[in-house]
Amino acid sequence: ADDLNKTDPQLFAAVVGEMVRQENHIELIASENYASSQVMAVQGSQLTNKYAEGYPGKRYYGGCEHVDVVERLAIERACLLFGADYANVQPHSGAQANAAAFMALVKPGDTILGMSLAHGGHLTHGAAPNVSGKHYNAVQYGLNPETGEIDYDEVQALAREHRPKLIIAGFSAYARVVNWRRFREIADDVGAWLLVDMAHVAGLVAARCYPNPLPHAHVVTTTTHKTLRGPRGGMILSACGDEKLYKKLNAAVFPGQQGGPLMHVIAAKAVALREAMSEEFVRYQARVIDNARAMAGVFIRRGYDLVSGGTDNHLFLVSLIRQGITGKEADAALGRAHITVNKNAVPNDPHSPFITSGLRIGTPAITTRGFDLRECEMLAHWICDILDTLARGKEGDHEENSNIEAWVRSNVAELCARYPVY
Ligand code: PLP
Repeated sequence: ADDLNKTDPQLFAAVVGEMVRQENHIELIASENYASSQVMAVQGSQLTNKYAEGYPGKRYYGGCEHVDVVERLAIERACLLFGADYANVQPHSGAQANAAAFMALVKPGDTILGMSLAHGGHLTHGAAPNVSGKHYNAVQYGLNPETGEIDYDEVQALAREHRPKLIIAGFSAYARVVNWRRFREIADDVGAWLLVDMAHVAGLVAARCYPNPLPHAHVVTTTTHKTLRGPRGGMILSACGDEKLYKKLNAAVFPGQQGGPLMHVIAAKAVALREAMSEEFVRYQARVIDNARAMAGVFIRRGYDLVSGGTDNHLFLVSLIRQGITGKEADAALGRAHITVNKNAVPNDPHSPFITSGLRIGTPAITTRGFDLRECEMLAHWICDILDTLARGKEGDHEENSNIEAWVRSNVAELCARYPVY
């Protein structure tokens, strides 16, 4: 690193700046986490130099004997951890895992049914600007505006009306347990494939803190860097036993969507998957949920509305409609206090996706750095203090705003110093 400081000081300063930011700010983005030092070390290894197009034992390049061992270990561990009999660990990201699964299951122009981005689905589940919305005829389901939960009857009605070839379940912003079995029944009813994208809850699933979709879905995709706490990347899994489908999935990843696999990242996935088999990891995931519930409880007691009224997983969604604050303002105010969240659309949101009326708050990262119920409740109170003043500030007292932000910022600095990430 010292060398880099000499040869490329500008880049070096930005990397150090990010390291300092991660230590000194509180991270509540539900899709982020802190990978272990071993995961990071392996990603910085010589494996980054190796081309290995193809699959273990069937490569287009020589010298693959060691990376074959690495990829086989990652596959075996993924299968063992999630109860799969097929795993492809090569997707560079969650988006590429989804694109490959679509490629294996449907043809351009076919109808697909996924959860809309505005209601908590992911961009890759059929949103208009994404390839999933451009190449396929995407129909979208959402949340029941009364309950804030998935309306399975609506999903079934849409499936019967549009006869999709593929149904996608899974989410980026949903605080409840999804009924995978019900989704499979709906898919079977119309003869559709069921793809579950468990990216957000993969770590909870691995620890058996959230229902495993593998017994229900034909295909499961995931990222490896969220609750699963591995390197940035994707995976495709299945337990459906359909060897023809497995061949199609492999061909869709390579050569369908990608060229050479990132062997250093695959090695880091193998490290993370092994970590996820430990008792410590199981306790960690249970704490992630307890911490999310504790924070959600404070918000409710302080008079804030939560979409679906609470949480069963690692995240919750705060609706700020009643307070008349936008997600954008709240995100910026918390940012000034060194608390990182993301603005998020909520059902019946009067604002555009760039403004929004909500916040998504997740506990995977703070739980990794050691926060427990006490710290989480305290943190939730600080956030509510800032939001309360923001709502009052609408009537004019900007000084109160900056005082409270400064007070929280100094509390955050102390708390972060007590719980170093690395
Ligand atoms: N699927 C879901 C449910 C996600 O939440 C995300 C990312 O936020 C992705 C897929 C995409 O993953 P990536 O950013 O690795 O492409």
